[in-house]
Amino acid sequence: MKIAVIGTGYVGLVSGTCFADSGNYVTCVDIDEQKVEQLRDGEVPIYEPGLEAIFSRGIREGRLTFTTKMKKAVKEADIVFLCLPTPPGGDGQADLSAVMKVAGQLGSLLEDYTVIVNKSTVPVGTGDRVHEAVADNADEQLFDVVSNPEFLREGAAVDDFMYPERVVIGTESERAAEIMTTLYEPFVRSGNPIIVMDRRSSELTKYAANAMLATKITFMNEIANICERVGANVDNVRRGVGTDSRIGKRFLFAGIGYGGSCFPKDVQAIHYTAGQNGYDFKILDSVMKVNEAQKVSIVDKMEKYYGTDDFEGKTFGMWGLSFKPETDDIREAPALYIAEELVKRGAKLIGYDPEAIGTFRQATSQAVLDKMEFVHDQQDALEDIDALIICTEWNEFRRPTVDRFQDHMKQPVIFDGRNLYDLDRARKAGITYISVGRPAVN
Ligand code: NAD
Repeated sequence: MKIAVIGTGYVGLVSGTCFADSGNYVTCVDIDEQKVEQLRDGEVPIYEPGLEAIFSRGIREGRLTFTTKMKKAVKEADIVFLCLPTPPGGDGQADLSAVMKVAGQLGSLLEDYTVIVNKSTVPVGTGDRVHEAVADNADEQLFDVVSNPEFLREGAAVDDFMYPERVVIGTESERAAEIMTTLYEPFVRSGNPIIVMDRRSSELTKYAANAMLATKITFMNEIANICERVGANVDNVRRGVGTDSRIGKRFLFAGIGYGGSCFPKDVQAIHYTAGQNGYDFKILDSVMKVNEAQKVSIVDKMEKYYGTDDFEGKTFGMWGLSFKPETDDIREAPALYIAEELVKRGAKLIGYDPEAIGTFRQATSQAVLDKMEFVHDQQDALEDIDALIICTEWNEFRRPTVDRFQDHMKQPVIFDGRNLYDLDRARKAGITYISVGRPAVN
């Protein structure tokens, strides 16, 4: 099939590349000229494990091309995917300006029957709006608008796309459903389902999934906060509850809150949609409040440990700047908030991340940049620091040689927002170790 992907970010680039890898001809379109130039030069602008190999193959075999011009790509396509940003607008509602702008341009470009697929995460009813916008300039027989939410996780995006646990397709059109099913069949050969449903339910499914996952994380973070107050260990509680198959083992790890480009904005957006429809989604109110506090809870612990909120003269190392491991994405990363709070209190920072130093630098404030040095070796972030703060659970942080801490830091003090280390080992190594929902080791 011939596919046009409009919007070549994390979702568009991964989707386009994976569709090309399964034999389709894909043209990825983006308004960012610099990005398109980089892609044409064979350079992947994001860090995503496994992407580069299939990206290069797609280009080499002539099935993956890039352009800033929507016209030709859309005219030739059987399917047009919208993978456009839907960031939070005012009041937390999703900003649909990019989606609606492109929708307004599509109608006049359609020549033969085309399936227009919304892969962006969009509020219920957006499919109707996109349909109307396209129909302003095109015969209704020429197209269908389908919802096909994306469930990939950054850091594992290629695997998630190639082997999805399910594919959700929202359309009332049998013709469009058949084309979409044919497109996705190679990705679900192991028997995972392609679930075809009405468009509105499909749009809501994505928000329901993300809101439920954010709630699960937040619930465990609250259990962790209670553990700290009653002298329990959240790791034990997690194992105890996770073995119940109704609860499941995944997504139960306590930490310094969820971040990223999806959970925060999607929780806000469904909360807003509920409000607009006269429903007060109370659980999500709490989820948002708890997560805000959780992101900087490590700073509260530091104040308590030092007995002051004045960190003038102190230097802290930060391991992990991205919102989660295996990505360079720093959108809504707890590290951004923590750095801001520490600098406000007078601290100096030394930051290390395997992939996200560049994106972090672009996103953080000048106040932080003035006080933060960045290093390209995790060990260099330990030199003469008063304490190490772990914000992201990159694998390489899991097994550091203990004497690195002892030999390089002024004091072997660690504030761990991701519970990477065993408490007994920390105790034996003589490290002061303060983590989340577990007894402090002094
Ligand atoms: P992104 O910001 O990484 O990429 C969006 C791209 O669209 C950018 O390259 C931008 O230049 C381009 N763009 C903007 N306006 C354009 C226009 N008018 N024409 C052509 N290109 C345009 O966003 P993303 O993370 O890929 O997310 C896209 C959508 O997918 C969002 O709705 C998001 O919620 C959803 N989603 C994201 C993820 C994820 O993990 N990132 C997962 C599932 C769903």
